[in-house]
Amino acid sequence: MNTQKKGSAVYLIILLVLLLLLSVVFWIYFSLNSFGVVGLIDVNSFVILIAIFFILLLSLAIFYANEESKKIKKIDSIIKEIGAQNFDIKIGADLLNSAGAVGSVALSLERAISNLNSTNKSLNLEIANRTSDLALEAVKFDTAVNDLEKFKLAVDNASDHIVITDPEGIVIYANKMVEKITGYSRAEVIGTKAGKLWNMPMSLDFYKKLWDTIKNKKTTFTGELNNRRKNGEVYDATASISPALDKNKNILYFIGIERDITNEKNIDRAKTEFVSLASHQLRSPLSIIKWYVEMLLAGDAGDVPVVQRTLLDEIYLGNQRMINLVNSLLSVSRIELGTFIIDPKECLFSDVVNTVILEQDHNIKTRSIKFSLDYDALIPPIMLDWQLMHIVVENLITNAIKYTPVGGEVKFTAKIEGKNLKITVSDTGIGIPSLDQTKIFSKLYRSDNARLVDVAGNGLGLYLTKMIVDSCGGTISFVSTENIGTTFTVLLPKTGMIKKDGTKRLE
Ligand code: ADP
Repeated sequence: MNTQKKGSAVYLIILLVLLLLLSVVFWIYFSLNSFGVVGLIDVNSFVILIAIFFILLLSLAIFYANEESKKIKKIDSIIKEIGAQNFDIKIGADLLNSAGAVGSVALSLERAISNLNSTNKSLNLEIANRTSDLALEAVKFDTAVNDLEKFKLAVDNASDHIVITDPEGIVIYANKMVEKITGYSRAEVIGTKAGKLWNMPMSLDFYKKLWDTIKNKKTTFTGELNNRRKNGEVYDATASISPALDKNKNILYFIGIERDITNEKNIDRAKTEFVSLASHQLRSPLSIIKWYVEMLLAGDAGDVPVVQRTLLDEIYLGNQRMINLVNSLLSVSRIELGTFIIDPKECLFSDVVNTVILEQDHNIKTRSIKFSLDYDALIPPIMLDWQLMHIVVENLITNAIKYTPVGGEVKFTAKIEGKNLKITVSDTGIGIPSLDQTKIFSKLYRSDNARLVDVAGNGLGLYLTKMIVDSCGGTISFVSTENIGTTFTVLLPKTGMIKKDGTKRLE
């Protein structure tokens, strides 16, 4: 039996005993009266006795009520403490051992306090954990914000013009250099299509290539452009536009970086103009030397003894090399300045090839080269700038002859393939070392094995050839294995070359 039940039972027993005592007193009294025993206790004494008994009973009840009210007050103050979230409060044994409802409420309260205590502890623990997590997150966030801030500062103050656009090309960010280079404020630029304000119109091909690279191939596009500042001034720029992709390879942004290269271009232009002028000026004295040596060799000034003839031959050859170099330099400078003319006329491609072969006949024979020509007779007349086509074919054939050992083979083929006129020149020569293959179209580049075979080369022929083929909308490529041979392939649109205005012809 629990404490409350015990307490209730005690009170009940006391009450029953008192009632029993009262009944016994009444019974004795009335029995004595009925047996005529009088004088043992008279009526008055009996009433006083009963009154005392009741007073005692009442005092007991008041005492009991008082005790209970004290306990209820205690319970009330405990509840108030709980309300004030003081869960450390203890319920005394007096309350817990109390009889009846008070004891039962005290016990329930004790259980509630213990539950609240453990809930409170786990809540506090949870709060502490969350707080430390939040603190960690806050530190991380602060670091990220700092990094982002640093990154933004770096991009804002970069020396190149940087623009970030959405996938549709609308500018969402522009750095300070954009303002400085273009003259447009960032507010003017943001929200417009990238480059709309400053790009000068480019060819349709340029835009096709640009969008194909960045939107379809999703790689970086690099190129040179002409732009116009807000004040109308034209400037040269190199541009690099890259897509930023998410993990599913969807385009998030485009990042465009442009560099104003006007100064570099001006310096380059000045150098090229100097080379052009110098070459031009050198041509007249070289031509005069050539004429006079030719006259001497022809005996116009009398018989030339054998020894002098040999020396004159050397002078003639050296001068001819110089003329070739000067002509190449002049052609290169005209191409670089963009001043050269493309003037296509309908002609037979075979005429160009035959002319070159005839010019090289002496070379072919002295070097015992087995020259073969595989030419498609059905190639129709085609729009070609004869002079430019001659430079291309001549360079490829002379190189093949020059870099093929005596007795080797050179094969020239030409045919229409798809939309192109395809020209190939193959040889069984020294080949191009694999390490040099990426640089072979660069200006003045010569590989070591070529220097050994021919000391007089200038490394301008292939550069010039590629520039011409590119400007005529074609492509040039090669495959080569050292000591086995090389095959150059040129593809030109079978529709021919497109006219280009300029001031000078290439020679
Ligand atoms: P050059 O022949 O005057 O040196 P080019 O510009 O015509 O200059 O050629 C550049 C270089 O390319 C050559 O020096 C040589 O190293 C290499 N080259 C070109 N054609 C051939 C070829 N058919 N076989 C081997 N090497 C070649």
